[in-house]
Amino acid sequence: MNNCDVIGKIHSLESLATLDGDGVRYGVFLVGCPLRCVYCHNPDTWANSGAYTQYTARELCDKIGRYKPYFGVDGGVTFSGGEPLLQAEFVACCGKLLSQNGIEYALDTSGAVELDGHVKEAVKGAELIILDLKMYDSESYRKYTAGDMDKVIAFGDLCDRLGKRTWLRTVVVPNINDTTQDMDEYLKVASRWKCVEKYELLGFHTMGFDKYARLSIPNPLQSTSPMNSEKLQELQRYIDDKRSKL
Ligand code: SF4
Repeated sequence: MNNCDVIGKIHSLESLATLDGDGVRYGVFLVGCPLRCVYCHNPDTWANSGAYTQYTARELCDKIGRYKPYFGVDGGVTFSGGEPLLQAEFVACCGKLLSQNGIEYALDTSGAVELDGHVKEAVKGAELIILDLKMYDSESYRKYTAGDMDKVIAFGDLCDRLGKRTWLRTVVVPNINDTTQDMDEYLKVASRWKCVEKYELLGFHTMGFDKYARLSIPNPLQSTSPMNSEKLQELQRYIDDKRSKL
């Protein structure tokens, strides 16, 4: 089997999207995620045994290549999920094929992964890393996800060493991480990485609740309200202001 024959399990594809990176994006959502974040709105991507479509790296990149004229100077592909780096060999292979075709890609990841060779290769080839900074210490990371904060720190350190353009993202949930004191803690973690170009807060919402019901998965935030958008904007201004003074 050569690299182009590596098979990826794809939850869904989204052509001509505008979120998750610069310009016009082609979103590739891969299946599988072990993290179980309490606020996840995509529990349908968790199991890699559910509904998915298989593509070889070559097949997927040929399909994406047809959209190249729409990407312009800034656009490209974003690998997301689920956790795309659970299928790092596939992502790295796609990355190589896309680069050969002059198409850049972003990785939208939790960073809570082992830094094996394929992961490093996928990160090295990426033009942009979108890293979820879910919580700011090991204890809360373990409480609200099933992941390991040390891995996220190691992942961010790798991005920093490689000088990768990096955007941080944090989902803000009422009564969990919605105070300026929480933001100060996040900023402390972020300050170790010079590669961070932008820090974006996302408000918790309830749009994925029906998926929990459909999949019969208990929803730990069933009684939590969506994040107030004005409060979210205030916290974003707080973060931006503090970062502008660094
Ligand atoms: S990392 Fe993303 S897909 Fe995985 S559980 Fe958390 S929010 Fe959901």
